[in-house]
Amino acid sequence: MTGNNLVNEELVMAQTADNLPQDPSMLAPVGPASGKPLAQVRSNTAEEVREAVAHARKVAPDWAALDPRGRVHLLKQVRHRIYGMLDEIIQVVSEQCGKPRAEALTHDVLPTVLMLQYFERMAPRWVRPERVGRLLGPSLFATASRVEFRPFGVVGCISPWNYPFFLSFLGAAPALFAGNTVVLKPSEVTPGVGELIRRTFEPLPVGVATVVQGGGVAGAALVDAPVDKLCFIGSPGTGRKIAEAAAKHLTPVVMELGGQDAAIVCDDADLDVASSGVLWGAFMNAGQTCAAVERVYVVDSVADRFEELLVDKAASLRQDPEGEVGSLTSERQLETVRRHLADALDKGGKLLSGGLEAGRSNHNGTLWAAPTIIDGRSEEMALFSEETFGPLLPVIRVRDEDEAVRRTNEEGFNLTSSVWTRSRDKARRISSQVKAGSILINGHGHTAGAPWTPWGGVGESGYGRLNGIYGLREFLVPVNVSTSIAPGLKSLWWYPYGEPTTKTLRAFAEVMSAPKLSDKGRALKSLMSNIGGALKEKL
Ligand code: NAD
Repeated sequence: MTGNNLVNEELVMAQTADNLPQDPSMLAPVGPASGKPLAQVRSNTAEEVREAVAHARKVAPDWAALDPRGRVHLLKQVRHRIYGMLDEIIQVVSEQCGKPRAEALTHDVLPTVLMLQYFERMAPRWVRPERVGRLLGPSLFATASRVEFRPFGVVGCISPWNYPFFLSFLGAAPALFAGNTVVLKPSEVTPGVGELIRRTFEPLPVGVATVVQGGGVAGAALVDAPVDKLCFIGSPGTGRKIAEAAAKHLTPVVMELGGQDAAIVCDDADLDVASSGVLWGAFMNAGQTCAAVERVYVVDSVADRFEELLVDKAASLRQDPEGEVGSLTSERQLETVRRHLADALDKGGKLLSGGLEAGRSNHNGTLWAAPTIIDGRSEEMALFSEETFGPLLPVIRVRDEDEAVRRTNEEGFNLTSSVWTRSRDKARRISSQVKAGSILINGHGHTAGAPWTPWGGVGESGYGRLNGIYGLREFLVPVNVSTSIAPGLKSLWWYPYGEPTTKTLRAFAEVMSAPKLSDKGRALKSLMSNIGGALKEKL
């Protein structure tokens, strides 16, 4: 069985700006870097989403029953399908998001194939049952316990538009390798990418991985279908709504939300490396990255030089599909960036580079915003309380590293953070104090693409983990199968609760809790003298 056109097979070809559809069921994206209308995609109805989930539920037992290597064999073909579509994927991701082709390749395609290949090798090992309590189980409870990792059933994945290809796979791939079927709802902002993903799923049996298209209505229908587990990647605001809707069905959710990530530049940092790393961390994907640097704390003694290097390097960034910095992807994002920048300048921020009037100007609905660096960030500014998610970087001067750590934790929420220093001790000390889901030393943000490392947030930036063994196990229920190793024997803690039984169990509690060896010894003696009577009581 191949092919996955369960629902939404319609893909209407590109139209001109004059005849954009009036039909609300059509998603009609416009290239944010070009202003050109792109292929339209039909949005699925709530009923179709429910049908997709029902079909995924029907085929789930067969997919779960497949040998893990059999699943790997089929999922490998998805990776090979991506190979055959490489140029097309780069092209479509680039034009739908407005990002440079280099970023479509390095941020969407590469981490996806790396992750798929990694799970192909590791997943069969990680889904295997494990023995636990090898010593304690048999000696204390006369049982042997095995943990079986069982798939949930149907996993619903909802993904955003900033890395529309990779982030769809980030949830869907581990769910599939774990033996779940998946219904994926990619972002309505980049529906063409959803259509590509649908094609990459074609080597899988029908219904194992289904793409449904649409916005909040389709997403809400998926949550309410309900599914057995959800993986949501998106904004904290939508995350809250989804958590509430999922609670109605007690559906467990992985929440991968946003961040206002901090970078800390210490006084002993290699400033050339730190300025290049922070520049990339702040402006990659035009700053539309959950783990983008949204504030950099620089120790005073090196702040002038750091700022100078940062500004120099920012000047060489080309805003171009063939360059380093693309356009923004959504109009809402452009408005947020402009509002945050105007407000920050109004409230004392000093413009160091870029600005509202700088860089490429916008025509026919293009969404360019220049990479912008400001000096200063304060509580009154909108960017202090909201994630910007755009190419706007405030530099904040601090007295020392302790102040930087305190402000990193107090002045925003961190999906990830970075520390820039030459000293291993300092790196260890600072990283142990920073509140974030990932802390990188002399690097920023790239570990979402390192499938062996856990990826996820703390606090406002979310909960649950993707990537690595933690990511795979998010989509597996650990079920304990406990077997008596002495089936002919009745357990000590069964009825009746006569005196020898209670004395034996009390002595056991004393052995386990007594602080002094002499007390432990006394309790052990009592245990030995009562256990025979307790066992007799059970005959
Ligand atoms: P968003 O929350 O607006 O939308 C995300 C997805 O949720 C979309 O597919 C959307 O259609 C869907 N959706 C909207 N309303 C819904 C509802 N009521 N029920 C179900 N689904 C619904 O986010 P966005 O603007 O697409 O993405 C930007 C945000 O995502 C930023 O906050 C960014 O930090 C975050 N993000 C997080 C990660 C991560 O790994 N932690 C990665 C990328 C982006």
